[in-house]
Amino acid sequence: NRQVILRDYFIGPVKDSNFEIRTTTLRLELQEGSQDVIVKNLYLSPDPYMRNRMKGNHNSYIPPFVPGKPLNGFGVSKVVLSNNPDFNEGDYVTSWTGWEDYSVIPGGKGLKAVDPVTVPLSYYVGCLGMPGFTAYVGLFEVLKPKKGEIIYISAASGAVGQLVGQLAKLAGLYVVGSAGSQQKVDLLIKTMGYDAAFNYKEESDFSAALKKYCPQGIDLCFENVGGKMLEAVLDNMKTYGRIAICGMVSQYDKDETAGASNLSRILTSRLTVQGFLQSDYLHLQPQFIEKMVTYLKERKIVYVEDLDEGLESAVGAFIKLLKGGNVGKQIVRVAIN
Ligand code: NDP
Repeated sequence: NRQVILRDYFIGPVKDSNFEIRTTTLRLELQEGSQDVIVKNLYLSPDPYMRNRMKGNHNSYIPPFVPGKPLNGFGVSKVVLSNNPDFNEGDYVTSWTGWEDYSVIPGGKGLKAVDPVTVPLSYYVGCLGMPGFTAYVGLFEVLKPKKGEIIYISAASGAVGQLVGQLAKLAGLYVVGSAGSQQKVDLLIKTMGYDAAFNYKEESDFSAALKKYCPQGIDLCFENVGGKMLEAVLDNMKTYGRIAICGMVSQYDKDETAGASNLSRILTSRLTVQGFLQSDYLHLQPQFIEKMVTYLKERKIVYVEDLDEGLESAVGAFIKLLKGGNVGKQIVRVAIN
């Protein structure tokens, strides 16, 4: 059983050398009397929040990884052995799983059966999984958009951003996004229906860029990036605008997450700024799944993925994600079936 191991906590950019791939022996047998399940992992989900788990920060909302142990995260797997009456061999499931070929899920805890026919299996860690749910609750529960409002989304083409923009379009908003390459900007405008988008790496002054693309100001911001981008957003918000702080990916390599230097804008423009975690809204998952499946079936929403093959590519995929090399939701296929 190959496993991706975190060597030790670190600050600064993620490097290959922060991890190792270790091969261990896993006996494919279950403990008698347990309700354990053994799964074969098919898709892993490198996600930005995982970076914060590599800093040993015990004050976070999620515990740090344990050095010397495999990473874990959201995944799609296939049941190979089960002592649990709710799961049978051959079932496809999502779970909190190890970055490894096979995982033992104690008591089958957290496993959820998924349908392999309606949508591609990888969607369960993307548009139908945590990133999709984040887009949905961040937009509808936190920002509560009204038709005709202007929304700005940073990291707009990623796993979360691409859905925020498309859901916002369906809700009748004017949608502006930024991303880190021309390819991503084209995707936003041509495939995802954004009204305007720009490559922030080509802009020397983010605030001026926002003024250009949102000349009347921003009503709503779905903030994924933080740092300088958030400062530019604060400069461009309309009075009484609302900001949902979803993430601050530009800050995750740092020891502490730095705030914006112009926070007084919150006062002068009377803004509402709310951080949120998708995990606070889990009761809304059934309605989210129902709506998203319908949108996908009706092709009202498209979902772009960036697939890397093999467990050995997982660390590279994670590094790529944090550098913006991913185009769409980054996933890693560990096995085909
Ligand atoms: P993405 O698929 O958007 O991938 C991350 C992207 O961030 C990269 O592709 C890159 O895109 C951008 N990025 C990386 N570094 C920088 C930087 N220094 N400045 C600007 N952009 C940068 O990831 P997700 O969609 O999965 O996550 C998006 C955000 O949502 C993250 O902040 C994440 O932590 C947050 N999140 C929050 C949740 C919650 O419950 N609050 C749940 C899930 C995600 P580009 O090329 O455009 O620079």
